[in-house]
Amino acid sequence: MMPKVMIVDDSMFMRNRLIKLLSENGYETVTACDGVDAVRIYGEARPDVVLMDITMPRKDGLEALAEIRQLDPTAKAIMLTALDQPLLAGRAVLIGAKDFLTKPVRSGRLLMALRKVLS
Ligand SMILES: [Mg+2]
Repeated sequence: MMPKVMIVDDSMFMRNRLIKLLSENGYETVTACDGVDAVRIYGEARPDVVLMDITMPRKDGLEALAEIRQLDPTAKAIMLTALDQPLLAGRAVLIGAKDFLTKPVRSGRLLMALRKVLS
C-alpha cells in the first residue's frame, strides 16, 4: 500500500510542488492549507506522516502538531519552514516532530527524510 502523506502549507505553489514530487515517488497525498484544516483533516485521513509548514495563518504548524499529537500520540511529522530558526526546531522536536527541514527543501533531502521517518 502507498504510504499516505499529509501536506500542510499555506502556499499553493508549495502544496502543488509537493503533491507532484510525492505522487511521482509512490506516495498518496492529502493536503491542508493551514493548521486548523490540518487538525481536522488528520482525524479524517489518518496519514502515515505529516509534512508541516510552520508559518501559516489561523493556526501555525507547531500548534497544529501539538493538537494532532493529542489526538494521536504516534503521529509522525516533518516540519518545514522558510526561516532557519534553531529555536523553532527545538520547539518542534519537543512536541514530537521527527525531523526539521529548511525551505527551499531539496527534493532528494525531503524524500530521504520521508523514507527515514516511515522506516
Ligand atoms: Mg507558510
